[in-house]
Amino acid sequence: MQNLLNFNQPQLAEYFVGLGEKPFRAKQLMRWMHHFGVNDFTRMTDIAKTLREKLQIEAEITPPTVQLEQVSDDGTRKWLIGTDTANSIETVFIPEDDRGTLCISSQVGCALECTFCSTGRQGFNRNLSVAEIIGQLWVANHSLRQADGYNMLPPSERIISNVVMMGMGEPLANYDNVVTAMQIMLDDSAYGLSRRRVTLSTSGLVNAMDKLKEDCPVALAVSLHAPNDALRDVLVPINKKYPIKDLMAACERYLVKAPRDFVTFEYVMLDGVNDTVEHAHQLLDIVKNVPCKFNLIPFNPFPDSGYETSKPSHIRVFRDILMNAGYVVTVRKTRGEDIDAACGQLAGKVLDKTKRTLKRQIHIEAVA
Ligand code: SAH
Ligand code: SF4
Repeated sequence: MQNLLNFNQPQLAEYFVGLGEKPFRAKQLMRWMHHFGVNDFTRMTDIAKTLREKLQIEAEITPPTVQLEQVSDDGTRKWLIGTDTANSIETVFIPEDDRGTLCISSQVGCALECTFCSTGRQGFNRNLSVAEIIGQLWVANHSLRQADGYNMLPPSERIISNVVMMGMGEPLANYDNVVTAMQIMLDDSAYGLSRRRVTLSTSGLVNAMDKLKEDCPVALAVSLHAPNDALRDVLVPINKKYPIKDLMAACERYLVKAPRDFVTFEYVMLDGVNDTVEHAHQLLDIVKNVPCKFNLIPFNPFPDSGYETSKPSHIRVFRDILMNAGYVVTVRKTRGEDIDAACGQLAGKVLDKTKRTLKRQIHIEAVA
């Protein structure tokens, strides 16, 4: 059975041609699946009955299954989504006055081992399929449409207006599936989101950033977190492969094709680690050729992380140095903390294949 959620429109057209059908059927089907959220072929009334019957035998529209839905006091929602019997991932919806943002996962766990990240700590199992990535949008839409406060809205009103690829995993390490899923988000027959409202966050995979600007330029956020290579090598170990100078050059190249004229640099605020006045000045120095905004993220703690959140007064001083240099700086409000839905807290359930968790356990026992 072919799960049609795996296809973008051109791929679906090819699939129909393979079935001996007209390629334009793809557009109709994209609308039913994604725009109207229908996964039952019998309800697709403008598609010939014979084709519907053929599809019922050959294909399926199967979104991933929701294992748990939690709602925070502040309205943030989190879904625990099963990907197979051993693994699950998390998706978060963040409502704000002027928008509704869905934070989507791209991998079960993450292989990149950033030291302050709970997903990184968990190890890595596998990449998500296109159906599992776009399926998070499908499932969240479906569930929000039935939720109190949203169920009276007309179908024309978008509940999810923005998507951020900032959940579990490094999206550019699952390049092909993430790009196909984002093409579906942008497709007018599917979700019709503008490129400016889809943001991909990366820890800085330079080669893939260069490819992305050609294949599917969306708004870009880069997890910088440190203003010099010595510190970034520790916090974001992929820096050893793609050091800051190369990363900044890649950002400059990306902006030539990007839908927005700036990159957002994310910077997690770790007490005494990367949050001093000197760090702020170093930061201004390394970004000087890249039009950018800063998003300071107070560290969200998790058990045994070994880090503490920067003191609010230090965050203010740090922010003011950047602002006084003329930059737009936001300090990310922590949302959904009571349901562990804040940045870096997404854990899902990861059957680690890297043996990282085992190594860590042995290390802890040896030290104890
Ligand atoms: N892998 C991608 C996207 C997922 S992480 C990336 O690293 O960019 C989304 C953001 O949350 C990243 O900026 C990440 O560095 C940050 N983050 C990770 N752990 C965090 C924590 N414990 N507290 C606050 N932010 C964290
Ligand atoms: Fe992976 Fe991003 Fe976490 Fe680093 S911060 S371990 S790249 S999810």
